Amino acid sequence: MNAAEILLVLNGLEPVDTTGWVFCVVTHGAHHYWDNSAQQMRESKEERFWPFEKGEVLVLAGEYEREPFGEGRKPAKWSNHEHHFKDLSEALACREAVLAGTWQCECAPEPVGEES
Ligand SMILES: [Zn+2]
Repeated sequence: MNAAEILLVLNGLEPVDTTGWVFCVVTHGAHHYWDNSAQQMRESKEERFWPFEKGEVLVLAGEYEREPFGEGRKPAKWSNHEHHFKDLSEALACREAVLAGTWQCECAPEPVGEES
């Protein structure tokens, strides 16, 4: 049993083409959310990561694509901020920094509702 065989079984015995696949790390949450009962966007002082978790590492079928397995979540659809990596060790280092609170990136969205 090897990883390629496991991937084949997980994919319903269809060959898996991983061209363009990336590791994705959720680095920041959103500062707004959709209030379904009120049918409007609301601001949030807290970072909201749902349906992801802070520092979560995902496999995506491309930078703006879905997870190829499982729930098939699509980070690009949400207001979270994430980074993409081809290299797993880089993704894991990013995750560690995010969880330690030391991750910094210039492309992160400005937090809403913070006093400056
Ligand atoms: Zn960034």
